[in-house]
Amino acid sequence: MRTPIIAGNWKMNSTYDEAMDLIEELVDGLEEREEVDAVDIVICPPFLWLFPAAEYLEDTGLLLGAQNCHALDRGAFTGEVSAAMLREVGVRGVVLGHSERRWYDCETDRALQEKVPAALDAGLQPILCVGETEEEREAGDMQRKLRSQIGEGLQAVSDDQLADVVIAYEPIWAIGTGKVASPEQAQEALAFIRALVADRSRQAGEEVRIVYGGSVKADNAADILVQPDVDGALVGGASTDPEGFAEIVAAAE
Ligand code: PEP
Repeated sequence: MRTPIIAGNWKMNSTYDEAMDLIEELVDGLEEREEVDAVDIVICPPFLWLFPAAEYLEDTGLLLGAQNCHALDRGAFTGEVSAAMLREVGVRGVVLGHSERRWYDCETDRALQEKVPAALDAGLQPILCVGETEEEREAGDMQRKLRSQIGEGLQAVSDDQLADVVIAYEPIWAIGTGKVASPEQAQEALAFIRALVADRSRQAGEEVRIVYGGSVKADNAADILVQPDVDGALVGGASTDPEGFAEIVAAAE
């Protein structure tokens, strides 16, 4: 049995006050529900709010995630934050290779090849994002793109640590667009990713958690989450709506 995981990526949204209010509402809304024990719920606010959020989330069962980290522990890398630093303030997971970072910040598969093991070494659970553009899908290149992103992103991860990585299939055409992949499209892509992991280690293929991301909302979550290879969701826009997010968590359970 793979424990479902629902991660909320707030991106660069929220003031300090908004962030604290949102966490309070999320905790209040989720704490009364039984799903908190059955689902890994990860909240990924902007870097600056991680420290106060960690104090707030202590003993709530909700986990804290960051939206990026550097591959090295320390050094002359102005503006960067290391995985070890994140772990020190109570962060448990980190989103890596989000398509917005790949696009706006020129994040490469080569960089991710170092970041994923660095996160694991620091004790963080990496959430490695992969996915094709609309043009790539239309050209029949989805599998080629996923194979190369998974191959590179996991290259430096040992077989026995593969299942410690969460893989998020996020078709770029579905992120923040309101266009959600059909349950069949999500299942097809996630089954393909699972087969890629199983090619390296059959056991890891069975154990690795693979989630879908792209315009997941309360009203479409259940149809996607019920698919056999879908272990959860990476939620962007809807993660800052406490009620909607709680509905998605309930659907995962
Ligand atoms: C995301 O940012 O990872 C994402 C899936 O965004 P949205 O849910 O808004 O499409």
